[in-house]
Amino acid sequence: MNTNKPRIVILGAGYAGMMTTKRLTQQLGAEEAEIVLINKHNYHYQTTWLHEVAAGTRNQNQARMMISDVHNPNRVRLIYDSVVEVKKEENLVVLENSELSYDYLVVSLGFESNTFGIKGMDKNAFAITDIETSRLISEHIEYQFAKYKLDPKAKEEDLAILVGGGGFTGIEFVGELVEQIPKLCKKYDIDPSIPKVINVEAAPTILPGFNEVLVAYAKSSLETRGVEFRIGAKIEECKKNGFVVNGDEEIKAGTIVWTGGVTGNSVLNKSGFEITKGKVTVNGDLRVPGEENIFIIGDCAWVMNEEEGRPYPPTAQAAMQHADTCAANIKGLLHNSELTKFVFDDKGTVASLGNSDAMGTVFSGTKLYGKPASAMKKVIDNRYLFLLGGPKLILKKGKLRPF
Ligand code: FAD
Repeated sequence: MNTNKPRIVILGAGYAGMMTTKRLTQQLGAEEAEIVLINKHNYHYQTTWLHEVAAGTRNQNQARMMISDVHNPNRVRLIYDSVVEVKKEENLVVLENSELSYDYLVVSLGFESNTFGIKGMDKNAFAITDIETSRLISEHIEYQFAKYKLDPKAKEEDLAILVGGGGFTGIEFVGELVEQIPKLCKKYDIDPSIPKVINVEAAPTILPGFNEVLVAYAKSSLETRGVEFRIGAKIEECKKNGFVVNGDEEIKAGTIVWTGGVTGNSVLNKSGFEITKGKVTVNGDLRVPGEENIFIIGDCAWVMNEEEGRPYPPTAQAAMQHADTCAANIKGLLHNSELTKFVFDDKGTVASLGNSDAMGTVFSGTKLYGKPASAMKKVIDNRYLFLLGGPKLILKKGKLRPF
């Protein structure tokens, strides 16, 4: 490739990185800039589908795609390696196996699990963070079922699944679990009344940020299908075989999954960016304050909602919109034109409660429940695939069956 062209380096091929790359290839001529996308793996996964992979209701291959099937390697230089550090003063990215200089940098490395220092949580609980951690969870759950059948010493509590955190991920995950467990019971010939799914949340409610009517709907739908909620239960410790809550009460389980918190990628901290609660607060144009050529987007960034005086919540929806502004602003820098300010266009949020139930709000606050909400959730998932790869990608990877 012609190295005289300015080099744009994008770190992380998640929602933000994939869409930024897509927009840059659409908006810049091949002769204008060299575009480099760096990612840990040679595939991209839809993070918003990971709870399905973790429960075992979706095959991991349906939730991921080869990056080279979306971005033409003749147009975008693809490097599959782990980012270790950004050396801002030298305009250099250090990878596990090499180094690369940049003229413009986009940091879109996503999130990491945050256990807020709860004793034993890092060591004893699984977390839903990528394809591999999610696959490990579903395989561990199935192992517990197989072991229960074969091992005379296995206990009923080994079939309990404890989910720490009643936020978006925790609730979507338990919604998938109650669909998967009857299938596992059938497969291993186990009485379906034995396995338990227990969701533990310290706050007085699950799904903070959702309207209370929607929260009540979600809770009742999941309880009807067997989820036990322990709301207002503070997790003091995570042991190998369960949680200690509210002082000294023990809740035992053979599988423990923590979904209660995330933070920005630790590469930010290692690279000396100014961090607030694990992320970097960026300017309105999505650049790092004081850094003319570095953009931070997606779950690594705090983007302020100036009207409300607090950052927008980190979502795939926001990450994709960051990508649009970021690509437009890189083009602006290359063309010496004015940069645009990020404005979030809230299209609503829908949380799945299994494959055929969901709830949420769309457009300007219209509430949706049940099958219509579930169908809308699939439309949202497919829309992303459409934006990334057109109808061909929907046909290959989309959620085509309504229920
Ligand atoms: P990601 O999509 O996580 O991508 C980060 C990328 O960086 C990954 O490809 C990763 O492999 C790569 N990477 C990480 N570290 C390195 C490294 N050191 N070197 C190289 N590559 C690296 N949001 C919604 O809007 N709607 C939803 O319904 C929704 N559901 C969710 C369900 C679950 C189970 C989860 C976990 C999240 C959900 N979210 C949802 C949130 C949403 O997924 C995130 O906000 C979104 O993925 C952020 O995009 P991103 O590009 O910043 O990070």
